[in-house]
Amino acid sequence: MTRIMRGISRVDIRINSYIPITTAEGPNTRFCIWVQGCSLHCKGCANSAMWGKNGGTVYKVEELIDLIKSYKDKIEGITFLGGEPLEQIEAVTEISKAVQDIGLSVVVFTGYKYSELTGMETFKELTKYIDVLIDGRYEEEKQDFSRPWVGSSNQNYYFFSDKYDESIITKYKNKIEVRIDKNNNISLNGMGNFKEVLEAMR
Ligand code: SF4
Repeated sequence: MTRIMRGISRVDIRINSYIPITTAEGPNTRFCIWVQGCSLHCKGCANSAMWGKNGGTVYKVEELIDLIKSYKDKIEGITFLGGEPLEQIEAVTEISKAVQDIGLSVVVFTGYKYSELTGMETFKELTKYIDVLIDGRYEEEKQDFSRPWVGSSNQNYYFFSDKYDESIITKYKNKIEVRIDKNNNISLNGMGNFKEVLEAMR
C-alpha cells in the first residue's frame, strides 16, 4: 500500500467543510469533518468536488481541536469523512487523540480496504485513538443504502474500543439532513438517494 501520503504537515489539515452538530454521520450527535483530497476516484462518487489536493481550507490541527472542544457538551463524538481522511493520517491521528482525551468518540471513514492498511505503522497508531473505522471504496454497482452511513455493500465496520459494537448497524438508519441557509442555499449531508430528496423538495 503505497498511495497513502503524509499529511501536509504534522500540524495542518486541509478540509473541505465541517458541520458542528449532525445526526446523520455516525452514532448519535457528532461534529463531522470532510477532509479535502482523495486519490481513489471511485466511479459514481458523490463527493468528487473533494478530490483535489489543493481545494478546501487549511486549518491548524490545534485550531480544529479547539473548535471541536467548544461543542464538547453537545456532541458524542466526531466523524472524519471526505475526501480521504487517511491521506492526511498524521493530522487525523492528532485530532483523534485530542478528542478521545476529552471523552469524545471517533469514527473514521476511508475508501481504502482494511486489508490495504494493516501493515502501515501510521494506521496502527491511528487505531489507538479511534472507535470505529468504516472501510472500502464506493462501488456503484453494489449500491446499497440498507446499512447506516454506507453507500455500497462491500463496505465494512471495524471496532477498536468498547464504546460501540455491531449493534449500531441495526440501531441506526441512514438519513439525509437538509440545511437551508439565510440566502436559501440548500445543502445535504448523510447517506441515501440525494437526487430523490432534491426532486421531492421541488
Ligand atoms: S473514497 Fe470516498 S471520496 Fe474518495 S472517491 Fe471514493 S467515494 Fe469518493
